[in-house]
Amino acid sequence: MTLPKISSEYIDPHTYPKGIAYVDEQYLDISKGKVSILDYGFLHSDATYDVVHVWKGSFFRLELYLERFFSGIEKLNMNIPYSKEEVSTILHNCVALSGHRDAYVEMICTRGNSPSFSRDPRDAINRFMVFAVPFGSIANPKQMKLGLHAVISPTVRIPPDSIDPSIKNYHWLDLVNGLFDAYEQGGETAILLDSSGNVTEGPGFNIFCVKDNIIKTPEIGVLPGITRRTIFDLCSDLNIICKTTTVTPTELQNADEVFISSTAGGIMPITRINQIHIGDGNTGPLFQMLKDAYWDKHLNSDWCMPINYDN
Ligand code: PLP
Repeated sequence: MTLPKISSEYIDPHTYPKGIAYVDEQYLDISKGKVSILDYGFLHSDATYDVVHVWKGSFFRLELYLERFFSGIEKLNMNIPYSKEEVSTILHNCVALSGHRDAYVEMICTRGNSPSFSRDPRDAINRFMVFAVPFGSIANPKQMKLGLHAVISPTVRIPPDSIDPSIKNYHWLDLVNGLFDAYEQGGETAILLDSSGNVTEGPGFNIFCVKDNIIKTPEIGVLPGITRRTIFDLCSDLNIICKTTTVTPTELQNADEVFISSTAGGIMPITRINQIHIGDGNTGPLFQMLKDAYWDKHLNSDWCMPINYDN
């Protein structure tokens, strides 16, 4: 038997959105931004990441995303040779080079490789990467108008004492399995419960419900989302009561309104859960008010950092 030849040139069969990556200290076209198959970020999901968005040429609340990213790095005993200011510059450069005015910008720290393929995570050299691609939303324009249909996964449970949900992580199998449960029942997205049966979060979003003008969102078992935090700030500005507490599936289904929050799309309505309409089945007034206030803040220079596309 003759051995196959080692390829001298790698031909990538995949296609990519337009964008720029920063990998191993180089700015690259997104199609060239690759991670080693020996990187523990890939092999063990041993990584943390964060996603900030750029809207109309400005980062939104970048300092909060950087704070969460650096806190995840510290909690996972990783380190990168960059300060927050240096990471901010790299993020800025990726967006400016991409030319995107509305962008989804991801910063990643993986455990990396160790030269001996050692299984001791302390031997690995952590890897820092960034990419900027076009902005994307969990809800499409039709779903923004009519609301999403969510399904509470009957099979997946995410206990917070397993993987610390406050560290933004790539342990997405629970979220992906939840999505397949939802699709099977005709839903468009998933809501996951913890092991006590309380509501936590969904694939890429936090969850809010409204009853008698009081907003509630799960207190524990969730990523402290930056959009969630922005909703708290907006509620405080608008004198709306918003509580972090336990939320049960029954409360969610009997709510006047349900909405979700994510950097990927902002504040988005849920109008059906497990086939049952929420409230009157339409998007609600508090959702509308907060969504408008959220996008208004994208024009407020105190909350935004402009990109310089000229240099
Ligand atoms: N929960 C999970 C599991 C997420 O992955 C995300 C964002 O990707 C969120 C919540 C929302 O967080 P943020 O508002 O910071 O985007």
